[in-house]
Amino acid sequence: GVLAAVALPRSARRVLCLLTILRSGAAYLPLDPRQPAARLRGILTDAHARILIGPAGLCDGLDTRPLAADTLGEGAPPDVPDTPAAGPEDPAYVIYTSGSTGAPKGVIVPHAAIVNRLEWMRAHYAIGPEDRILQKTPATFDVSVWELFLPFLSGARLVVAPPDAHRDPAWLCRLMRAHRITVLHFVPSMLAAVLDEPAARGLEARLVFCSGEALPAALRDRFHRTIRSELHNLYGPTEAAVDVSYWPADADDDSRPVPIGLPVWNTRLHVLDGRLRPVPPGTPGQLYLGGRQLATGYLGRPDLTAERFIAAPPGLPDERLYATGDLATLREDCAVVYLGRLDHQVKLRGQRIELGEIEAVLAAHPDVAQAAVLAREDQPGRTLLAAYVVTESGRAFDRDALAAHMADHLPDYMIPTAWIPLATLPVTANGKLDRKALPAPELSAQTASRPPHTGLERRVAEAFRTVLGLPDLPGADDDFFALGGHSLLAARLALALRDGHDLSLGTVFQYPTVARLAAHLEDADGRTAGASQAGFGPVVTLRESTDRPALFCIHPAGGLSWCYGTLARALPTPRTVHGLQASALALNGRPPADSLDALAQAYTDQVLSLQAEGPYHLAGWSVGGILAQAVAAELQARGRAVGVVALLDAYPCEAWRDRPEPAPEDLYKALLHIAGADPDALPPERLSRSGVVEFLRTQGHPLGELSDARLDAVFETVGCTNRLVRGHRHTRYDGPALHFQAALDHADSGLSPEMWQPHVGTLTRHAVDSTHAGLPGAAATARIAPILDACLRAADPTTPIADAAEPHCPPIRSHEEPA
Ligand code: AMP
Repeated sequence: GVLAAVALPRSARRVLCLLTILRSGAAYLPLDPRQPAARLRGILTDAHARILIGPAGLCDGLDTRPLAADTLGEGAPPDVPDTPAAGPEDPAYVIYTSGSTGAPKGVIVPHAAIVNRLEWMRAHYAIGPEDRILQKTPATFDVSVWELFLPFLSGARLVVAPPDAHRDPAWLCRLMRAHRITVLHFVPSMLAAVLDEPAARGLEARLVFCSGEALPAALRDRFHRTIRSELHNLYGPTEAAVDVSYWPADADDDSRPVPIGLPVWNTRLHVLDGRLRPVPPGTPGQLYLGGRQLATGYLGRPDLTAERFIAAPPGLPDERLYATGDLATLREDCAVVYLGRLDHQVKLRGQRIELGEIEAVLAAHPDVAQAAVLAREDQPGRTLLAAYVVTESGRAFDRDALAAHMADHLPDYMIPTAWIPLATLPVTANGKLDRKALPAPELSAQTASRPPHTGLERRVAEAFRTVLGLPDLPGADDDFFALGGHSLLAARLALALRDGHDLSLGTVFQYPTVARLAAHLEDADGRTAGASQAGFGPVVTLRESTDRPALFCIHPAGGLSWCYGTLARALPTPRTVHGLQASALALNGRPPADSLDALAQAYTDQVLSLQAEGPYHLAGWSVGGILAQAVAAELQARGRAVGVVALLDAYPCEAWRDRPEPAPEDLYKALLHIAGADPDALPPERLSRSGVVEFLRTQGHPLGELSDARLDAVFETVGCTNRLVRGHRHTRYDGPALHFQAALDHADSGLSPEMWQPHVGTLTRHAVDSTHAGLPGAAATARIAPILDACLRAADPTTPIADAAEPHCPPIRSHEEPA
């Protein structure tokens, strides 16, 4: 009955944590560490979680006790009783799903329910030691439960995918081949993206499962033309232990639509009318579920439980039923066919979303008088969330402020793409919101954007239009993601333009505008030198706009500045953003700098060569912040005007001097960290250069595909920057600096922004609910970008005074004080 929350990235260590929790008799509560801290804290509070294995800062002020994942396994093994500590009716896990009343709700699944589901799957599909199961589904989605535990029950091999692999079709194909995966799962929209990927052709597996959303018959047929494997369509809500029905979607299955099929062991599917009477085959009704797999109910919400888990009417062989909210019908052969939803729950790329939850968060913003949110499919196959907003009288419609508010409370996939201000919401004759009368959003290109002019720009713009289903050709400066793109569409765009180039999903994230992607392709096409240097030269331009002074972002320890791409895109006011990178990565044979001052001088020269006039705006994350302060001091010494100096969770050199010299294995761990893998993923005997590279390659990670020389350069840069930091003495920069602290890691780590006081004129501090590693990510960036933007505008020479007064989006939990 005790709940233990786990907020760790996908890794073998996380699997061990989950097993440990179950073995202790407790139930686990999976959390996605990338979701906003406010939401995670809300869930921890709602669930009364006893412990959290994950970022300790999330527990501040809560009754939950933090437990560091890497202390597990230390000390003598505890006495584990032979008899199970939990009984069949005790909870095994609690998964939170979107809640229509404005807050997520926790579904309690007992052992008896999930064991029925796992044992059915093991026996029905004869899963055993010959199988290799890929664990790629996020733990917050219940499909992960069989991926995680079936290997332990069946003797199959468990293969844990790296944290970001599940979004990238090409990466998944590489993993399937490298590990000869026999059993894996896709939500149908991801399966479609994988089938688009040329590397999918000829893949083999034994069992591919689809669930989470409807499996279109055309997709089933395309699957069998592309991949050699059985395909099975499973169906079930979180409220009934993952799946309750199955249908073999064989190559010779010609059902249209593909049914969700027949019940699993100890389970019944009832299609009932409004008065809970069974309907005959062919007549639509609501689907109700009965049997062993039903959840206990919603945690701490007897009201919601009573609404959905009802007493069965007399005559049915069940006591309790779960009302799914799904419209279904029976075929003559008793197979169930899914027809759609009866409420405002939607599935977007497999994610379950209650539009009511998004509306409630939006309506809580003080500028908003009324709000409605729709999932619109104005172009076939392209569903997006559109928010309709009526502002309070006297309040302006500020899209950026509203989007930042949403990012504070909701996961990425629940943040609307299209925003439509309205004077009033349309209503029907009886005064209800008329959803059908809400206008289609115009996702048109930026009005100021110049038309694409080179042949290649036109080709890229055409690909944007096709993939995004835009009415017009976008302009050269239009950004793929601002026009409604997401990762699955980015994979499609990469594919449409690949054509002989090595164009990956990452390239689209790095060069998201028409002009920049075209320029990148031109490099790759024509100048061979340019192609091999793309992304590794001393400067990567992450965004381009000539109106204002540029922002120069300086690389962290690994020497690459790609991590600033999200920040560059998120700045509301357009400006050029350059990333300065370690020269060793360009493989030009130049000897590395022998002091951090020498490096700062070289970067200062670089900055001055890119921009003739000040002010010079600088930013840096981690070691990049130390470099940004040093470049600011050097510019000042040369009599140049410095604008903003932003230190992103950076701490001065003296914080590192007395720490033990990093051992070689720390460099290897650093590379795993840069790759987004668990730094403790490898046993000590494999923690070597070749061990790490081999690991990255078998994981199919793009960093594992860098040439040997390039990887050497990354390793050397990590070691070299580390040495230079230890030997550096700061020169004072006599001007204002801005510090963003990753509060989840550093609330009491001994590293504090005040350590900068001797080295800068004044210091303004902001605490961001993020880990150090998560600071360049989308959630933390959504908080940082508006503040940084306001400061940049205030320091720009042409900004009118009134414009510069106040950051327009004050952060949650920020405190500002002069040093
Ligand atoms: P979740 O709780 O996230 O598993 O979502 C459950 C809902 O997803 C169901 O109530 C259905 O609306 C939808 N769903 C799940 N599997 C399928 C399927 N195979 N076909 C159609 N809809 C599905």
